[in-house]
Amino acid sequence: MNRRQFLQAGAGLALASALPGRAAQASAQVVIIGGGVGGATAAKYLKLANPALKVTIIETNRTYIRPYGSSEVLTGHARMEDLTVSYDALHHRYGVDFLFDTVTGFDPDKKQVRTAGRQSLAYDKLIVSPGIRLDYAAIPGYSQAIADTRIPSGWIPGPQTALLARQLQAMKPGGTFVIVAPPTPYRCPPGPYERAALVTEWMRRHNPTGKVLILDPKDNFVTDATMQLGWHRLYGYDIPADFMQDMPAGVQNTGRPAPIAWVRAKDGGTTRGIDARSLTVHTEGGPVQADVLNVIPPMRAGKLAFDLGLTNETGWCPVERRTFESSVHADVYVIGDASIADAMPKSGFSANTQAKVTAQAIVDTLAGRAPAEPVWGNTCYALAGSDYGLFVADVFRLKGGKITQVSGKRYLPLDASPTQIRLGAVYQQAWLKTFTEDCFA
Ligand SMILES: Cc1cc2nc3c(=O)[nH]c(=O)nc-3n(C[C@H](O)[C@H](O)[C@H](O)COP(=O)(O)OP(=O)(O)OC[C@H]3O[C@@H](n4cnc5c(N)ncnc54)[C@H](O)[C@@H]3O)c2cc1C
Repeated sequence: MNRRQFLQAGAGLALASALPGRAAQASAQVVIIGGGVGGATAAKYLKLANPALKVTIIETNRTYIRPYGSSEVLTGHARMEDLTVSYDALHHRYGVDFLFDTVTGFDPDKKQVRTAGRQSLAYDKLIVSPGIRLDYAAIPGYSQAIADTRIPSGWIPGPQTALLARQLQAMKPGGTFVIVAPPTPYRCPPGPYERAALVTEWMRRHNPTGKVLILDPKDNFVTDATMQLGWHRLYGYDIPADFMQDMPAGVQNTGRPAPIAWVRAKDGGTTRGIDARSLTVHTEGGPVQADVLNVIPPMRAGKLAFDLGLTNETGWCPVERRTFESSVHADVYVIGDASIADAMPKSGFSANTQAKVTAQAIVDTLAGRAPAEPVWGNTCYALAGSDYGLFVADVFRLKGGKITQVSGKRYLPLDASPTQIRLGAVYQQAWLKTFTEDCFA
């Protein structure tokens, strides 16, 4: 659903003010836990659809640090301050209320949320968008304490991102920057590979004999062909034989060592454990020595989702796909990375489009209407270098009760022109700005 259709739906709602559902809706209280991409977007679009709704975001932090674009802090293309997003517009322009506190539990029968600051908030509808939890302990030898001090992950941006940037800049000449990629499902599928590319590009200028090595428990990733073609053109990376058949004419491996390497599961890239003291990664293919080590561990739904009992055995939150209402508790909606959304990736774009569909479904339900047939979208832009952009773009619909990708061509074509590739990078930068505005301003 685009913005225009959404606003029209809201206008239609206004005309329905004489209907009985309207009174209940006007006084309805929607509480949103988590003021990240999903929560912020839901709040804004609920208020756009019906300014009379009382919408309150409960969020731990007074400002949001956006994860998308955070790898650019490592290479100095962005500063930590650039990742910081204010909640002022949501409050002053749209009338969203904020409670800066951490939710610790809730009573689904009484429909009340409890916070660490001993506040209790009643809701008619509750939206939960708590993001992810990094499962540090899933990798033997790794822990949050190690991540905070020596081997940062930085997949939830903050002090670990800044630490990793300092480590990269202080790395010895000719050193190896090792990225341990996560198993699926995880936040931002092209993200680890974009990070590897940006660090490789940075090395060419600042540490020309340095290397980047990706250790992977997988054999492929979304955008793998277009990303590897970018690595090949920019850094002389040799493309594995099983990807070569799809490459455009003229792409030829040289057999020379390249500053970036991807060790897949089939080549022994799966990590069994790490030795934090010596910065050694023990992989199925043998030990790998790092000079800077960036471990992106397996992920689960944010801790809050577990605290509220919204997860299942997968560690993610099952939802009724049409509206993202929790399969566990009525009138509770789980959106964003924490939800089980089938073919939709765990991305900011997905969280944003889920938030819009769910906001409309809540407005419809409160007005006594059946929610409309949902359509979601996702576009993930990624960089193989500052001027080398690529993407995956999808439209999703419900098919047989599952969220299914229905669009045809998904990727930047492998035979894209240099102009299309440069434009991809321009779009990526523009998206960071316009997307943040769509969610928070
Ligand atoms: C390096 C990197 C690059 C990325 N690039 C892209 C990209 O190019 N495109 C894209 O679409 N996506 C990208 N993403 C992914 C995107 O940032 C996430 O998918 C998105 O932020 C998910 O939104 P969310 O609302 O689920 O969670 P979040 O945005 O993480 O928000 C969760 C919020 O909940 C709050 N919270 C949690 N628990 C509680 C509690 N108990 N009480 C109160 N508040 C709580 C947190 O403080 C946080 O503010 C990237 C991610 C990374 C790490």
